Amino acid sequence: MFKRTLLIDLDGVLNTYVGGYQADFIPPIREGAKEFLIALEPNFELKLFTTRPPELAQKWLEDNKISHLFSEVTNIKKPAWLLIDDRCLTFDGNYDNLTEKIANFTPWYKNH
Ligand SMILES: [Mg+2]
Repeated sequence: MFKRTLLIDLDGVLNTYVGGYQADFIPPIREGAKEFLIALEPNFELKLFTTRPPELAQKWLEDNKISHLFSEVTNIKKPAWLLIDDRCLTFDGNYDNLTEKIANFTPWYKNH
């Protein structure tokens, strides 16, 4: 069965990152993340899309026993149906209010 690809970000999406980036430490997995991925995997090809070093990200997946759910770890934007990220805006075809949206953007964890 053909599966559409989801590129899924790590920091702020699958883990408890809330700022304070540390290059050599990836924060713990978020509650519910594993269940979310397990539910998606039968229907989508999952690729971890992160700027982290791939070896470190791969180890984090293995430590959390979810590496089997991903077909790839990449820092390259691969063809995908959707990108799931804590730091992005959906372009709706017009630029009119995009500058303002950029200026006002905050990731979800800064709003709680
Ligand atoms: Mg992120």
